[in-house]
Amino acid sequence: MAHNAPADPEAGIVGNQSTDFSSRGENRMDYRSIVTTCPYCACGCGLVLEVLDGRIVCTLPSKTSPTNQGKLCIKGWNVHEFV
Ligand code: SF4
Repeated sequence: MAHNAPADPEAGIVGNQSTDFSSRGENRMDYRSIVTTCPYCACGCGLVLEVLDGRIVCTLPSKTSPTNQGKLCIKGWNVHEFV
């Protein structure tokens, strides 16, 4: 992957909670992982959208989705580009 994604993004889902990555509260970033379904076709693969400071920056496959079991097609990997 091209970024520092958690090894299991679904294990770290915290809802709408902000995460402070600095020890002194400086450079605060609002990071969220949103579990959702790919809207592209009728397969309905599960995925996780990574949202940083209100902007969707990455798509990861859902490991627990029975439909795609941790895999995505090329369209699914790029959901963050067209949502
Ligand atoms: S990841 Fe691919 S196969 Fe799965 S729902 Fe999206 S477009 Fe369809």
